[in-house]
Amino acid sequence: MDLVKDYLRSQQFFKVYYDEPLAKHTTFRVGGRAKILVFPETKQKLIDLITFLKTNKIPFKVLGNGSNILPSDNDYEGVIIKPHLALNNMQVIDEYVNVDAGYSLVRLAYEMIKYELTGLEFLGGIPGTIGGACFMNAGAYNREMKDCLIEVHYLDQDGNLTVSNAKDLQFGYRSSIFQKERPLLIIKALLKLERGNGKEIKELLEKRRNRRLLTQPLDYPSAGSTFRNPEGTHAYMLIDKAGLRGKRIGGAMVSEKHCNFIINVGGASSRDIRDLIEFVIEEVYKVTKITLVPEVEFFNW
Ligand SMILES: Cc1cc2nc3c(=O)[nH]c(=O)nc-3n(C[C@H](O)[C@H](O)[C@H](O)COP(=O)(O)OP(=O)(O)OC[C@H]3O[C@@H](n4cnc5c(N)ncnc54)[C@H](O)[C@@H]3O)c2cc1C
Repeated sequence: MDLVKDYLRSQQFFKVYYDEPLAKHTTFRVGGRAKILVFPETKQKLIDLITFLKTNKIPFKVLGNGSNILPSDNDYEGVIIKPHLALNNMQVIDEYVNVDAGYSLVRLAYEMIKYELTGLEFLGGIPGTIGGACFMNAGAYNREMKDCLIEVHYLDQDGNLTVSNAKDLQFGYRSSIFQKERPLLIIKALLKLERGNGKEIKELLEKRRNRRLLTQPLDYPSAGSTFRNPEGTHAYMLIDKAGLRGKRIGGAMVSEKHCNFIINVGGASSRDIRDLIEFVIEEVYKVTKITLVPEVEFFNW
């Protein structure tokens, strides 16, 4: 790590944190400490840093808003990179939106009111970034990223700058080629929307926001839906059928309000959450013979 510290110092990275709790950077509010966590200030510094780490075989992980990640309680002996400062531009030309990977999904959805472009209202309640949404093919209300994505710019596993047509990114339900062929960095996306009416877009966003507030336990830390919906059914129904609504392990609990949400009701460890996830999988299988698959990603276990 001294090598990285020297590099960061010599290249004048300013927003660098040592032994930084990942609990501050995940929506579950759990996780061990990262040896180094850095917000590169420019795109060039970000790419140079990734090239440096790759060349020197130093482990690193790019995090968006940490809203789909469950890191272990162990410390991470690598570098966490947050691209929020370096990749935070958005540009609209006609119906096309060119947006950097660090850009907030909620902010983007609301920005579209003033441009009177419709098609991104589904992102209004998803607290991630464009990078995480391309990685996950995030979606809601029967719409997903792939429905409006034209192309994605990224650094492939070997560090080559690549531009892929969305059709080639193997998007499926909460899945993409990025989950198999881990790119080093998703840089930006080009989206195509449709002309709409600003007032109607705003109303739809507000309606859905109110619906989420009513149906989701947004007052507790979580990573949204914990499990993928199995083909033809809903994970929350199966969890309910298994009698797990309100089930608790340590500070982790199956939400009473929406039982596909596992929430941190205070002081949960990552282990509590993972144990509860595994318990739910076992119990749901006993009752329904269906194996639930987590939607959240386990990191550094
Ligand atoms: C309250 C709540 C509600 C939610 N509702 C929904 C919903 O309705 N629909 C839905 O699909 N999801 C939902 N989610 C889950 C989550 O917000 C999405 O999966 C989101 O797309 C994750 O984005 P992120 O930036 O937080 O990614 P992170 O959790 O930070 O990262 C996820 C993965 O993407 C990778 N990644 C992120 N950015 C980059 C990048 N620039 N380059 C390379 N790799 C990158 C990370 O390394 C990691 O592997 C919800 C979460 C919460 C907490």
